[in-house]
Amino acid sequence: MKRRGVAILGSTGSVGTAALRVLARHPDRFRVSGLTAFANASLLAEQAAQFKPGMIGLVNNGVSSHAGWRGGVECLVDAARAPDADIVINAVVGAIGLDATLAAVRAGKRVALANKESLVMAGELVTDACRRGGGEIVPVDSEHSAILQCVAGRPHSEVRRVILTASGGPFRAWSPARLELASVSDALQHPTWRMGRKISIDSATLANKALEVIEAHFLFGFSYDQIEVVVHPQSVVHSFVEFVDGSVMAQLGVPTMELPVLYALTHPERIEDSGVPTFDPVDLSPLTFERVRADDFPALRLGVEAGRRGGAAPAVFNAANEQAVALFLEGRVTFGDIPRAIEAALDALDDLDGSSRDALISADTRSRAYVRELYRC
Ligand code: MG
Repeated sequence: MKRRGVAILGSTGSVGTAALRVLARHPDRFRVSGLTAFANASLLAEQAAQFKPGMIGLVNNGVSSHAGWRGGVECLVDAARAPDADIVINAVVGAIGLDATLAAVRAGKRVALANKESLVMAGELVTDACRRGGGEIVPVDSEHSAILQCVAGRPHSEVRRVILTASGGPFRAWSPARLELASVSDALQHPTWRMGRKISIDSATLANKALEVIEAHFLFGFSYDQIEVVVHPQSVVHSFVEFVDGSVMAQLGVPTMELPVLYALTHPERIEDSGVPTFDPVDLSPLTFERVRADDFPALRLGVEAGRRGGAAPAVFNAANEQAVALFLEGRVTFGDIPRAIEAALDALDDLDGSSRDALISADTRSRAYVRELYRC
C-alpha cells in the first residue's frame, strides 16, 4: 500500500498533537511529509526527531536557528503545497491559515480542516478553489465531522436541517452580570474539551458556534435557516441531521479530537484504531440538551447575522473576534467587551468588498484596527 503523505500545519497545538498521536498508530498508511508550528521550537524539534518530515517550518523563526528549518508565515503555504503532501491538516489558529488552505485545494489536495477561520472568512473563495483545483475540504471540527458521517453521501435534498451541538462552555449557567466580568482563567476552564486559548475563549462567548454555523453553511451548502444550535453540556452527541422524512441521525463519541482527525484522514472509509477510549453509554450518562441563551451570548447571533449578510461580513466578524479575544487575553478588555467589539466593528464596516482574497485580507486588517482603536490599544 502506498503511504499517504500528511503535512500538519500547527503541529504543536491541541489538534496537531492529537493528529500526531493518530498518525503514530498508522505508520503503514501515513507518513509525515511536513510539520509547521508557530513558536514552540522545542516541541517541534521533538516531533521532527520522531516523525522525520521532509520539511519543518517555524512561523516565528526568530526564536530558533535549527539548521534546515523554514521560517516565516510562507512556510505554511510551502508545506501545504509540497508535492509529497497528499493530505494537509490545517490546524493553525485564525485568519493566518487562509493562504495555506487555498494553496492546498488549488493543488488538488485534501485539506483536513481544523482552521475553521479560513472557511469562515473566505468560504466562497475556498469552495471555488476546490472546484477549480480538484481539492477537497474534509472537516476536523467534531460537529462537522458528525454531520459528514450522518449525511453519508445522501443527496442534499433529503436533509431538512442540521442541529449543531454546543457544550455551552464554562459560563453556561452564569448570570449576565457575572459573565460581564468573567476572568481569563475562568474563561479558559472548558468543561469537556482541552483546547488552545483562542478556541477556549470562543467556546465561552459562543463565537466558536457562530464560526461553526458559517463553516457548516459553506461545507455542506445548507442555508442558514437549516442550521440550528442546541446546548449539550456533555459533548458526546457531536451533532444531529434531520432528514425530510423526519428521521434524525446523530453521531456520538467520547470527546476526543483523535476521532474526527482519523475520520478526516480516511473518509469515506473507516479503519481499525485502538487509540480512542471505549464508548460506554452508561458511563457517559446522562446526556442532556438545553436551549441556547441567545441574549446572554450575543456573539452567536452576531456571527450568524454576518454569515447571512455574506460578502466581507464574516471576515469582519472573525477578525474583530480574534482581535477582541487577543485583547481580553492580555487583560485589556473585559469578557463582556468581546461581543460589543464585534458588534461595533460589524456596524462600522458594513460595506467592505469581499470579492477577492486581497479584499478579504484588507477587511480583516481594517476590522482588527477598528477594534484596537475602539479600546485605544
Ligand atoms: Mg467544534
